[in-house]
Amino acid sequence: MKQKDFYKNLLEPYQDEMLETLKQFVAIDSTYDEATVDKNNPFGKGVSKALGFIEDLAKRDGFIVNNYDNMVVEILNNDLEKNITIMAHADIVPVGTGWPQDPFILLEKDGFLYGRGVADDKGPLLAAYYAFKALRDNNLLGHYQVRFLVGGNEERGSACMEHYFKKLNKKQPTLGFSPDSAFPLTFAEKGIIGFSVSKDINFPQLISIKGGVASNSVIEKCTVTLKSDLEFLSYLDEVEADYSYLATDENMTLTFHGVAAHGSVPWKGKNAAMEAVKHLGEFYKNEDFKLLYELYSPLKGEGVKASAYSENMGDNSLNVGLFSFLNGHLNMVVNYRYVETAKEEEMIDNIVMSSKPFIIKVLGTSPLLFYPKDSILIQTLLKAYQDETGDLETPLIASGGGTYAKSADNVVAFGMQFPDFDSHMHGVNECTKIEHLNLAMAIYARAIIELGKKI
Ligand SMILES: [Zn+2]
Repeated sequence: MKQKDFYKNLLEPYQDEMLETLKQFVAIDSTYDEATVDKNNPFGKGVSKALGFIEDLAKRDGFIVNNYDNMVVEILNNDLEKNITIMAHADIVPVGTGWPQDPFILLEKDGFLYGRGVADDKGPLLAAYYAFKALRDNNLLGHYQVRFLVGGNEERGSACMEHYFKKLNKKQPTLGFSPDSAFPLTFAEKGIIGFSVSKDINFPQLISIKGGVASNSVIEKCTVTLKSDLEFLSYLDEVEADYSYLATDENMTLTFHGVAAHGSVPWKGKNAAMEAVKHLGEFYKNEDFKLLYELYSPLKGEGVKASAYSENMGDNSLNVGLFSFLNGHLNMVVNYRYVETAKEEEMIDNIVMSSKPFIIKVLGTSPLLFYPKDSILIQTLLKAYQDETGDLETPLIASGGGTYAKSADNVVAFGMQFPDFDSHMHGVNECTKIEHLNLAMAIYARAIIELGKKI
């Protein structure tokens, strides 16, 4: 057998079983479900069921398995201290609307697979799981532990891994990866600061503003209710604002239209709330609104003296994701991300100082992740990918941030979306290819063996 095809051949007998398992796994709606959250189901019953499914699978396959409070399922081959840790997640994002078929029934068509979770993260999870199993079955693992962790809260802040590593104080990975992004691998993830901006504002003509669905999305639609004012409407027409309206005698409700985009790349969208702020500030000469626009419309943080650029990671980003004005009180939520040349504390100080008289409250932070490109972890994983695929061209990825890699030491996101393939993650018609899953299994098997040689 040629060494080149060793892992592909090793994994071939597992391909059908993986596909069958994926079918059953996708059928479980493991969206976070507030309505069924209780003491035993911290993320709702669907997530618990998906974790239970993996727990049963690994037990049947003869692994040591622990379910920690329906937050994390831990799958081990032994109890050695040094470990290779793999972190994947069983929860999914809501299916949304517009699917041409049932997103919980795995659809296979021309080598493609469609269904919620096939790419994020149920497919990649199983690719890595069967790689682990094949190595174990064939006695190829060395004198170290492989620890496979399946969490249930990745899509909503990774409280699962916080529980496992911080509360239960489990040992940190010696080396590891998370199959929850794209190949070749993500060596850097921006730091994230979530904060609110508030102030009481005197704006007699204005009744309310409401816009946004999540802090990490660009506001697509913003509704403004104010006292009827035909002159304002003519002004909006003059400046060619994108809006529609409904008027009664006394009040009128305007909807400003923007373009949705992920909050980590706000320059790919157009923020409807900031459009509304601009026009209201300009026309009514409201100083607070004018200042708000100056501070928070620049998308790289320039307005609040919190911009930075790095060769590795690009620009800082700033996104106003939620906007509300009611009874004279403004409150908005901002999702801000910074690169490795910026420091968290300094950025917060700059934002607070330059935003006066607006009041800033930090709601949460997620640290920056950055591994040098020449580190053992990065080089070993990259080589495993290159040796299996022959792709020496695709560069390493720096991202807006937010995978499990931030929840533990010595772990980076590694696959499994392949270059030039769009899996519509989080969108309608999420998909992957059977061929990709099979190739990913071989890459993950090789990666485990190669990491094992380094610890
Ligand atoms: Zn994911």
